[in-house]
Amino acid sequence: MGTFKAMVIEKTESGTKAALTDFDEANLMDGDVTVAVDYSTVNYKDGLAITGKAPVVRRFPMIAGVDFAGTVESSTNLNWKPGDKVILNGWGTGETHLGAYAEKTRVKGDWLVRLPASMTTREAMAIGTAGYTAMLAVMALERHGLTPERGPIAVTGAAGGVGSVAVAILAGKGFSVSAITGRPEEGDYLKSLGATEIVERKDLAGPVKMLAKERWAGGIDSVGSTTLANLLSMTRYGGAVAACGLAGGMDLPTSVAPFILRGVCLYGIDSVMCPIELRREAWKRLETELDRPKLAAMTREIGLSGVPEAAAAILAGQVRGRIVVKIR
Ligand code: NDP
Repeated sequence: MGTFKAMVIEKTESGTKAALTDFDEANLMDGDVTVAVDYSTVNYKDGLAITGKAPVVRRFPMIAGVDFAGTVESSTNLNWKPGDKVILNGWGTGETHLGAYAEKTRVKGDWLVRLPASMTTREAMAIGTAGYTAMLAVMALERHGLTPERGPIAVTGAAGGVGSVAVAILAGKGFSVSAITGRPEEGDYLKSLGATEIVERKDLAGPVKMLAKERWAGGIDSVGSTTLANLLSMTRYGGAVAACGLAGGMDLPTSVAPFILRGVCLYGIDSVMCPIELRREAWKRLETELDRPKLAAMTREIGLSGVPEAAAAILAGQVRGRIVVKIR
């Protein structure tokens, strides 16, 4: 047993503090699989945890990081053996269970998904929890019966992580995609991912009408609050919105009108406790339904020491696409 590098959050008198630390392997938590972490990523929730802006972390000291891709080092779980390539999203890692910003981690084997054969661990984390959540949202809209023929789909927070991956997947499936963004200067970027139309965030930021002009057959929302309320009131008869985020706020100032007068459905998307079968399906589909060159174009790489700066930037809405964190 030795030590390894980890981004550790400690409680302080004034709040919390994150720092790169030598962590003693003997202090890893229980689990039946030990994984050498290749890559992690910076998701919005990681930003909240690292900066301490929301009470994401519920155990101290905590190794931050809610997702990783890596290589099994040792296992007493019959499903995994040394050398297997694995992915983990959520299940409380980085919140209640020691997380991903570490050279080594120990988790329950039942939490792991096998890395798709044609995917590298770096690509898996370029997708990360944001991208896997975008796929869960697409799957929810499909289960609702939405097809490209039903009309365009709106993606809010489009230049962010969930948004960028959602735009790319939907465009790849032939949907007409309206990218809703507060950064119209990212219009060319969003069009390169496949957006057909760029809509300014302010168009969905005004007072919420109970019912507005029917515009989109569906939507994927990572913003919440007034944006989601306006999106619901602009959704066409029989349409659906998949909601996964709160980048604009936790509230939802809507009425029942879109639901009872237009039959609109609102689907909640949770990636953290999502059942394993759905995860496997999402990752299988990500292997073939997300264009790799587009994924590469939306991704930049940092090291563990760059995580605090990236955490502040993602909360400020300044990150475009995805940030992958090279761990070893
Ligand atoms: P990002 O910061 O990468 O993307 C969020 C985007 O939202 C920004 O890029 C920006 O897009 C837009 N935005 C930011 N602030 C505001 C604001 N005040 N008002 C309106 N729009 C805003 O984060 P992620 O994509 O990683 O995550 C997005 C959200 O989804 C987060 O709330 C996160 O917690 C949630 N999430 C939930 C999951 C779940 O399991 N339910 C899993 C993963 C993420 P633009 O500049 O284009 O307008």
